[in-house]
Amino acid sequence: MDVEKKIQSLREELQQHNYNYYVLDKPQISDYEFDMKLKELQELEEKYPEFQDENSPTRRVGGAVTKNFETVVHDHRMYSLSNSYSKEELEDWEKRIRKIVEGKVQYVCELKYDGASISLTYENGRLKKAVTRGDGFQGDDVTNNVRTIRSVPLKLKGDYPEKFDIRGEIILPYEGFAKMNAERVEIGEEPYANPRNTASGSLKLQDSAEVSKRPLECLLYSIVGNNTGITTQYEGLEKAREWGFKVPEESELKDSIEEVLKYINYWDEHRHDLPYETDGVVVKVNNIHQQEELGHTAKSPRWAMAYKFKAEQESTKLKKITYQVGRTGAITPVANLEPVQLAGTVVKRASLHNADQIEKLDVREGDTVFVEKGGEIIPKIVGVDFAKRDPDSEPTQYATHCPECNTELVRNEGEAQHYCPNTNGCPPQITGRIQHYISRKAMDIEGLGGETVALLVNADLIGNYADLYTLKKEDVLPLERMADKSAENLINGIEKSKEVPFERVLFALGIRYVGETVAKKLAKHFKNIDALMAASEEELINLDEIGERIAWSVVDFFKNEENRENVQRLREYGVQLEISAEKLANQTDKLEGNTFVISGVFEKVSRNDLKKLIEDNGGKVSSSISSKTNYLVAGENMGPSKLAKAEKLGTNIISEDDFLAMVN
Ligand code: AMP
Ligand code: ZN
Repeated sequence: MDVEKKIQSLREELQQHNYNYYVLDKPQISDYEFDMKLKELQELEEKYPEFQDENSPTRRVGGAVTKNFETVVHDHRMYSLSNSYSKEELEDWEKRIRKIVEGKVQYVCELKYDGASISLTYENGRLKKAVTRGDGFQGDDVTNNVRTIRSVPLKLKGDYPEKFDIRGEIILPYEGFAKMNAERVEIGEEPYANPRNTASGSLKLQDSAEVSKRPLECLLYSIVGNNTGITTQYEGLEKAREWGFKVPEESELKDSIEEVLKYINYWDEHRHDLPYETDGVVVKVNNIHQQEELGHTAKSPRWAMAYKFKAEQESTKLKKITYQVGRTGAITPVANLEPVQLAGTVVKRASLHNADQIEKLDVREGDTVFVEKGGEIIPKIVGVDFAKRDPDSEPTQYATHCPECNTELVRNEGEAQHYCPNTNGCPPQITGRIQHYISRKAMDIEGLGGETVALLVNADLIGNYADLYTLKKEDVLPLERMADKSAENLINGIEKSKEVPFERVLFALGIRYVGETVAKKLAKHFKNIDALMAASEEELINLDEIGERIAWSVVDFFKNEENRENVQRLREYGVQLEISAEKLANQTDKLEGNTFVISGVFEKVSRNDLKKLIEDNGGKVSSSISSKTNYLVAGENMGPSKLAKAEKLGTNIISEDDFLAMVN
């Protein structure tokens, strides 16, 4: 088959699978098969850059960096919505409608998705532009970022109009939000406050590759444009669905305001069953002619009305403020409440975040407080009922000492959280660190779980992760629910962890801010733990993508006598503290500091081997030529646009042989 056709057919196939997965939620092939096809397409596109396409499924992974988001004037203004909070207000709205339009009026009820509004422009079925709402007249061009959101179609299906805008909301479903936060907490970062702010913040990230990793979704609700051929709102939703957009199925057509109210009541009660946050219902006059007759006020259409759900809020008594200590020593204040029913669950505890938050709200023990449930799993306190405050109450004094080990707490400049600095003597930190060490992404010790770790610590059998390697079967057998077989598995699992590669060991050590990716980078650069331990802060900061905070944290970790001792013990037990000889044999830093772009077909090595050679020798591979590119390795049939760009920028253009001479 000719290459162009092959590329086209792979793109179409991937588009369809992408649609099945992200819009319909009904995948038909495995993730693995999908990845293989994507990889095949990627390779073809790299080899034949003349067929590149900004809307290819390969662009979903991002890569483009936007330094300044360009301001774009909306072709059609993005209005806001009038709000209502009661049955009466909705009935008044209907009366106003009746005065202007004659005949039957139908209403479309939709959920009001709580995220960041977006306007997408399509031309000839292809995504042209994605612009934030801004002030309604003009917004920011965030196309590079929106292109990475898998439920935004890059190419449409069916009989779409030549040019139109479609409006929707970019949201972050609860599940993805919780996962993102779990990952942040794991590396010692503070969790994000709520899905909506995180979604809108994501649109303004400079690096689209970062956006691509976030589980964002785009839900659409309105088609705007001239000559779209659409005559009702409901038809618009159906058409949008046919063209490949994700339009929630909860939207319904209603014949009267009574019916509308039933819909509202139903969702007021059931909205917590939805996978994402909603803050109300939007009611729209269905017929577009009637909409035109009704027109707009200065700020919002007269043909639409938002009905806002009441915030899920309850008031209850705050009995006591306690403090929790995390694995990294971070202190979280917790409000212990008189149990109260909220959004279908009984709430007994709520997060108070940090000292500033307590001061800002002026919460005190004994207060009656307002509790709200947002996107977080733990509800939060949003205010105090001052009328009910005991006149004798005193402002809250934030804890000065660790509740677990009584060490004086510290708070570093610029940080919101207090910390217990007694890293190696504070029980929850000890347990938490060992639990992190054995976790799946770290040492992945089979046969040993978090609860067993807690039991082992409590029984004084272990006090740090190095102690794991001294455990014998007889030691663990007396533990609760420990059968002979499980004791054996546990010991075997620990033994096997000695084979885990250095980069994962480095992550397992639990150095603050050193997540999986940073650990990989450090392992690759320093190759063994001794070199890393000897590195100064300046040396670390000079590495790509290692900031001040990480550098400080690494140095601080190895300054600690007990940490050094643990490392020494791990070494004696045979844990991998250097990159394996095999990996090392192929690695140099000959190409350190150089960025390469590969283009065309090569004779002696495959493109993938070429890439690997560059990376193994310390160089970086980039997919597009910029002023940062040092070398363009040019093969046969190189794309003319790449060549032109390289010539314009004065990039060194070298052949396959030139390159091989550089590394051999
Ligand atoms: P407000 O920000 O309160 O003026 O409400 C208007 C915003 O609600 C719009 O800008 C949209 O981003 C958002 N919205 C969420 N769901 C819908 C929907 N189904 N129809 C219209 N707007 C919606
Ligand atoms: Zn402590």
